[in-house]
Amino acid sequence: MTRTVVLESSLTPGARLLPVALDAVRLRGGFWEARLDLVRQVTLRQQHDQLEATGRIANFHRASGAIGGDFNGRYYNDSDVYKWVEAVSFSLATHPDAELEHRLESVVSAIASAQQADGYLNTYFMFDLASDRWADLTNKHEMYCAGHLIQAAIAHHRASGRRTLLNVAIRLADHICTMFSPTARRGTDGHQEIELAMVELFRETRDRRYLDEAVFLLEMRGQQPPVVGGSPYHQDHLPVREQAEAVGHAVRLTYLACALADVSMETGDKGFGGAAHALWQSAFERKAYVTGGLGARWQGEAFGEDYELPNDTAYAETCAAIGGFMWSWRLLIGTGEARFAEAMETALYNGILAGLSLDGETYFYQNPLSDRGRHRRQPWFGTACCPPNIARLLMSLPGYLVSVADRAVYLHTYASALIDVLVPGAGRFQCAVETAYPWDGTVTIDVLDAPDVPATLHLRIPSWAEGASVAIGPQVSEDVPVGAYWPLTRRFASGDRIVLDLPMSTRLIEAHPRVASNAGRVALMRGPVVHCVEATDHPGTELAALAIDPRAGWEVKSLEGLPGCPHALGGVGSMRGDAGPTAPVHRTRAPKDWRAVMLTAVPYFAWANRDPGAMAVWLPVMQPD
Ligand SMILES: [Zn+2]
Repeated sequence: MTRTVVLESSLTPGARLLPVALDAVRLRGGFWEARLDLVRQVTLRQQHDQLEATGRIANFHRASGAIGGDFNGRYYNDSDVYKWVEAVSFSLATHPDAELEHRLESVVSAIASAQQADGYLNTYFMFDLASDRWADLTNKHEMYCAGHLIQAAIAHHRASGRRTLLNVAIRLADHICTMFSPTARRGTDGHQEIELAMVELFRETRDRRYLDEAVFLLEMRGQQPPVVGGSPYHQDHLPVREQAEAVGHAVRLTYLACALADVSMETGDKGFGGAAHALWQSAFERKAYVTGGLGARWQGEAFGEDYELPNDTAYAETCAAIGGFMWSWRLLIGTGEARFAEAMETALYNGILAGLSLDGETYFYQNPLSDRGRHRRQPWFGTACCPPNIARLLMSLPGYLVSVADRAVYLHTYASALIDVLVPGAGRFQCAVETAYPWDGTVTIDVLDAPDVPATLHLRIPSWAEGASVAIGPQVSEDVPVGAYWPLTRRFASGDRIVLDLPMSTRLIEAHPRVASNAGRVALMRGPVVHCVEATDHPGTELAALAIDPRAGWEVKSLEGLPGCPHALGGVGSMRGDAGPTAPVHRTRAPKDWRAVMLTAVPYFAWANRDPGAMAVWLPVMQPD
């Protein structure tokens, strides 16, 4: 039996929009249903196999005393298991699968058996290492792992109705609340995650202690003396209310910002809310890749300076793009502003989706925007945060596509689906959405059932969709404003058909002049999808010698060899004839021997799924002499 699962069940006046249940958006055909089915059929099982093969699950059996031997792997490995539990729970909420459920429940009971009598649970700090518990908050991720357990337990409870894991999480949360509080020990975790989990546990249980604990753990940052190192790397250099520049470890920062937004929605704390917004502007307006990737530097997996966005050495961890997505989501439901939904969509189709291969079995950790052919997805990692993170995001994706508000429905991102929601102040609204988005910009919405009072359907018009139109019956609105929601207010009735048309021209994107690596270069986007060129489509050419002719047009063409991604762009470009291995590295500027070549650009998320070879998102603009 499936159950109603809500992602973030904020009930406070601080939220402008209300999340809908996962089963309120049933994907039917189209891009996302196929991809999510692949994750269910392949990815979730492949990840469980990896969790088994790498000893991550055995660590729980060892901690409970069921088996002997040494701890396997790194001290944060429990968190990978928890994120997988969260992903599978979301999946089972709408797609029952006895075999997968059996795998899940076996893992859940292993986790529960490993919990200590005082509520403590971390399989690394067992036996001879038990005396080191809570000794190194800066580096050892104990509360980070606990946060992922709490999130997994909430997802499991909402999906299955069973409290097995939730009770484990509550005991661990209570243990943490006892250990760390204004009247006990000052401390927080070097890797944020516990804070947003505590807020969600408050939402799940309505026990105010967990919300207070989240506030306390956030307030512990930037204190003197510092409790987690005092460095920008840990976002411990300033009190969180004063933080306005995205610095340090990118994933940490995104999880911190999620918690700031969550707490501000629950308590109305303007200091936390202001920091979540100021940091977002810093991260997304000056430090984000065109793919939605965050964290330019390998050193410290960190944000760089403003406009420091190198392509080949981009770190852009998959988890950071996911964290950015979750952060933008919170600001979206807090404000109802379309820019946050647009940032989510950009990250989703590009920086996040690139993290998973088209066969659903290998992953990127870093997501560079150019490569010489060496960077390939892997079936797993020693530090395997990204694979289960992408799984839990995709398995909860339907909940991010639609929201409701007072007498209103918001469509954030378009996918073929049956949408069935309860609209506050109005009643049931049911519609069928048909679209080939993101390849085609026509979206048809057929109303199947509607409240008998006026309600507003808000359709998001992306900032790139100049010339968009919305038709309802004979009434057509041309050139609707972009970068905003277009509100349709009326007494909807079964049989109403709304047709949204988002023009899908291929756009040349240029970067701010301060982005040194992209001077004189452009990237190709069509709709929300960033494209790139790959060597495998240009045999016998040097990819670095290719250039884009800005006057040339681009055509959509079909492409073989990329499962689930039949779409590519074709156009005429140019190639410098002086790019051979014997050409000098520097020379006096001279006329180029430009030759016309046919260029093929594939979606960035689909790169590195064929023969290894160079890739580039940003190409030089041809400069005729
Ligand atoms: Zn990661």
